[in-house]
Amino acid sequence: MTQRCFVVTGASSGLGEHFARTLAAEGHRVVMVARSGDRLERIAAEIRAAGGQADYAVMDVTDADSVAAGFDSIEGRIDVLVNNAGISNNEPALTTTAEGFDRVIDTNLKGVFLTAQAAARRMRDGGGGAIVNVASILGLRVAGNVAAYAASKAAVVQLTRALALEWARHGIRINALCPGYIETPLNSAFFATEAGQALIRRIPQRRLGQLADLDEPLRLMCSDRATYLTGAVLAVDGGHLVSSL
Ligand code: NAD
Repeated sequence: MTQRCFVVTGASSGLGEHFARTLAAEGHRVVMVARSGDRLERIAAEIRAAGGQADYAVMDVTDADSVAAGFDSIEGRIDVLVNNAGISNNEPALTTTAEGFDRVIDTNLKGVFLTAQAAARRMRDGGGGAIVNVASILGLRVAGNVAAYAASKAAVVQLTRALALEWARHGIRINALCPGYIETPLNSAFFATEAGQALIRRIPQRRLGQLADLDEPLRLMCSDRATYLTGAVLAVDGGHLVSSL
């Protein structure tokens, strides 16, 4: 890939932090987004110390004014948006509150729409770009106690297709990446439990995904050589979606 500017939302931990560090190590300029600058400042300093280019923009993706102000603060071209910020909920549908449901939908669906729209306006004026929406295999199948999350991710998949249709004329490609279960510091304790180990046994590859397993699929979706790839939905899950019934 030639050097480009990537905006990565939810870059203060987990997948987003990994994507930002990896893209910067590959020579790209990264602009990291999260709700608070503390951790982003530290990650940006580490990337710069290693010779990379990193800035950050503070925004709450659920708030249209915050997203507009955040994107205004990003100077120069935006070539790629990695729309990764998201939250999970893990509770039975019967006890999920209206506020809890709203929080998940606001972050995972409205947040993806608002940031995609802000990036696409810049990309349209700059002659095009690429957007990757990070959905989940839970947008394509279901599990217990994640009804709001699964619904939000299914909506992201369909939003991706709708935006691909509308924005193709502006040279903007938009695709959905659907990770399976990826090991991060936030979930590794669960996967050490008996329930977590039982889940791993249901994955055809019999292992959790590692952050690096997402790198090549992300590169493909972002590549300026993948010019005909848009509206696609790609699961990266060790075969979890095709597990035996
Ligand atoms: P994480 O909690 O480590 O990271 C989430 C990031 O989003 C953080 O940087 C957080 O600050 C940010 N964020 C949350 N709400 C925000 C808001 N309102 N405005 C701005 N930033 C906000 O989680 P993760 O596991 O790295 O997940 C990242 C994405 O990948 C999510 O969309 C998640 O649904 C998806 N995903 C994760 C897995 C997995 O196994 N970890 C699997 C499939 C999909």
